[in-house]
Amino acid sequence: MKIAIIGAGNMGGSIARGLAKGSMISESDIIVSNPSRGKLKELKVNFPMITTTQSNTDAVAGADIVILSVKPWLIESVARELKLKSKQILISVAAGISFEQLAHYVVDPEMPMFRLIPNTAISEQESMTLIASRNTTNEQELFILSLFNEMGMAMLIPEDKMEAATALASCGIAFVLKYIQAAMQAGIEMGIRPKDAMQMVAQSVKGAATLILNNDTHPSVEIDKVTTPGGITIKGLNELEHTGFTSAVIKAMKESR
Ligand code: NAP
Repeated sequence: MKIAIIGAGNMGGSIARGLAKGSMISESDIIVSNPSRGKLKELKVNFPMITTTQSNTDAVAGADIVILSVKPWLIESVARELKLKSKQILISVAAGISFEQLAHYVVDPEMPMFRLIPNTAISEQESMTLIASRNTTNEQELFILSLFNEMGMAMLIPEDKMEAATALASCGIAFVLKYIQAAMQAGIEMGIRPKDAMQMVAQSVKGAATLILNNDTHPSVEIDKVTTPGGITIKGLNELEHTGFTSAVIKAMKESR
């Protein structure tokens, strides 16, 4: 399986690194194209077997899978330039570009396509990657799911849920980071050194996520375990509600759709 990645920016570069670190694709079967040389050179430092090129058409020539990782406003011109073949699989990571639009930009609108929204934690192999498919077989879907499950967790969803899911999983990472930043500010005010505060909060967030993911429990079950009647946690939880925490999170998610 040969994979071409068009665009070596934050997302394209991270996907290339993730694929090279994974077990399903050989590093030498990855080819990455980008107009400027700098990002290609950076990629080569740790992954010398990845092929790099400044020509998009050279990159896709022998590829089975083509990942478009350019900014959304460049998707149309780049997809038209590539003239992909019907048997190739097209993956677009561009936020907000629908299958309907993609179908207009390719030679064969019936070609297999995936829309994929990873988040920035893909660089640490911890992405929540959303995947929608069109004209694909079960086998192709399972393959793409497995490929991105190696870079965190991947989930196949209907295209009409893509925007809502993007708010939760892609924009959501910024909201969690905002919580971490706010909690650190509190810690610093209470006399904890910034780096210690960062580690305390970040590990707590990681622990909370691991608890519900590993045990498949509802957050309220884990909240109950740390909420003693008359204790300090319930005081803090109630203060969060008095100041509109739940409402703020729901509003932020809906605004980000
Ligand atoms: P980025 O860092 O700006 O990367 C885009 C890359 O595309 C740059 O390296 C740019 O190269 C290259 N490029 C520009 N014109 C090109 C062309 N004609 N052919 C080939 N490559 C070209 O942007 P990004 O954050 O990776 O975003 C890429 C896509 O990922 C976007 O569509 C975005 O919606 C999607 N996405 C991003 C995130 C995220 O959290 N960042 C999450 C989900 C989805 P030069 O810099 O050399 O011009």
